Amino acid sequence: MSLENKDSATPAAPSDFIRDIVAAHVAENIYPRIHTRFPPEPNGYLHIGHAKSICLNFGIAREFGGICNLRMDDTNPAKEDMEYVESIQADVNWLISAWADDKLGLKAKGMSPETLAEDGKRDFYLPAATQADREQRKSESFEPFYASDYFDQIYDYAEELIEKGKAFVCDLTPDQTDEYRRNGLESPFRNRTVEENLDLFQRMKAGEFTDGVRTLRAKIDASAPNIWLRDPLLYRIKHVEHHQTGKQWCIYPMYDFAHCLSDYIEGITHSICTLEFEVHRPLYDWILESLNLPRPLPHQYEFARLALGYTVMSKRKLMQLVDEHLVTGWDDPRMPTICGIRRRGVTAQALRNFAYNIGITKYNGITDVSVLEFAIREDLNKRSLRRLAVLRPIKIVITNYPEGQVEELDATNNPEDETAGKRKVPFSRELYIERDDFAEVPPPKFFRLKPGGEVRLKYAYIIKCEEVIKDASGNLLELRCTADLESKTGGASSARKVKGTIHWVSAAHAVDAEVRLYDRLFTVAEPDADGDFKKHLNPHSLEVITAKCEPSLKGATFAERYQFERLAYFALDLEAKPGKLVFNRTITLKDAWAKEAQKK
Ligand code: ATP
Ligand code: MG
Repeated sequence: MSLENKDSATPAAPSDFIRDIVAAHVAENIYPRIHTRFPPEPNGYLHIGHAKSICLNFGIAREFGGICNLRMDDTNPAKEDMEYVESIQADVNWLISAWADDKLGLKAKGMSPETLAEDGKRDFYLPAATQADREQRKSESFEPFYASDYFDQIYDYAEELIEKGKAFVCDLTPDQTDEYRRNGLESPFRNRTVEENLDLFQRMKAGEFTDGVRTLRAKIDASAPNIWLRDPLLYRIKHVEHHQTGKQWCIYPMYDFAHCLSDYIEGITHSICTLEFEVHRPLYDWILESLNLPRPLPHQYEFARLALGYTVMSKRKLMQLVDEHLVTGWDDPRMPTICGIRRRGVTAQALRNFAYNIGITKYNGITDVSVLEFAIREDLNKRSLRRLAVLRPIKIVITNYPEGQVEELDATNNPEDETAGKRKVPFSRELYIERDDFAEVPPPKFFRLKPGGEVRLKYAYIIKCEEVIKDASGNLLELRCTADLESKTGGASSARKVKGTIHWVSAAHAVDAEVRLYDRLFTVAEPDADGDFKKHLNPHSLEVITAKCEPSLKGATFAERYQFERLAYFALDLEAKPGKLVFNRTITLKDAWAKEAQKK
């Protein structure tokens, strides 16, 4: 099921301090080719913060004729799972696969589209492998790299460090280790001989010791001002099965040790990560430089992570929302996960545009959610098919319109796109209009329907409300109207104007659809500020209604996006099936929250 079919243009390639560095390296010809990577840990689903990193890493590869690897940073098997591996793969693929077709933005950098063509579309997002067997495997389908593929090599590098006297086996407990490091104290096991260290490390690998009994630590400087250099852990014992390597290992490398080596093994040139890793950079360099590896070595560069208003971003918190059933799953359309955003109806293009728009800086801050919403509206405005649908219907009867008569009226599919053409919508004597478009006691400046007032039905006639029909307890049942049959849109005498135009559907022809009206998941911009984010959940973040839709929506597809005129943008939900339409409201036409804020 493809959710992507049309791609509007990407804005010109952005420039920022990381791209400037890469451009300088390209100009100086330092590397044969630019090579980046996106290295998620498969311990949860990707969120929009990851999308920023994906667009940066794959974007740089795209703009500079390089390649980008998707790599599972899978060194902590206790928290990882194949479900996450698969979702990450799907999300990355969705976000970038259409990008390879889009050659725009390259000219801005003075590069030719042919640089991309050389790699071929597939290669662009199926990074070239560094080993023949992986090359074979990965050429067959979109498959990521795994840090766990390098466990043998990483182990050998650890032995090399031991042999160089730059690593030792330590018998302190995890708590003692923390305490010693905090206080800048040397471990009493620091001065073991190379032979003893090698022997113990090999026995760690062989499974002789239980979890936590021993670790392998780098021998750098126990009292270094940078705490990350205080003889950091390189390996820990964990008798846990791994989703990729099974029972092969009972020791696993720490993130800091595995990451720089994985970068090196894959030939990464620019290892781009978020600011919290800045303090790890000296360790990154120390490990690679201690091993006498052939140059050039990869280098780490840091940028500010994305924090978005009205949501939480960390995987741990998102997992809480899922586990505690506060949302329906990782792909709940209210979640800031890539799969949730996709399910809601946002296109990959809109997300990439957002990532471009926010830019890359060194300063952490909160991005206003309206920036995301702007990118979504702009994209959907260009691509959406306009349709008529009534969310909260009331019936009207056009008393001077013949019973049984049906007219097929012309309606424009997309005023932003002439090639989208026109369609027919049936008009008949009984129609539905939006409950909100009628007011019995209208407020000032109410230009929609009111008793005795006139309004134009979009693509159809001007009608006048003649009579309000109610039941015994005063509930509105229907409106009796008359149409000015000379006023048909596009007709000879259609020039007559009234102030309001409203949407409608023919009652006999309408199809029902379940419509899920989503709003922000939290009621405050920083739900996490006081440490209790769940208390700020928006109780009205989802409302489910049954709408009356024009009959053409029976043929709605997952690939299309729809604007229900005057209401909002919608997309089919993945639970829609033949005979059951289910639409998600992706976003309203206007920012209702900004309006509220203004009123206050
Ligand atoms: P979280 O902190 O949300 O749980 P994480 O940092 O643990 O996420 P990883 O799987 O380690 O998630 O991240 C993979 C890559 O994505 C890393 O390079 C990381 O720097 C980047 N990344 C994670 N969160 C963000 C964010 N909010 N903005 C930009 N990049 C991010
Ligand atoms: Mg992380």
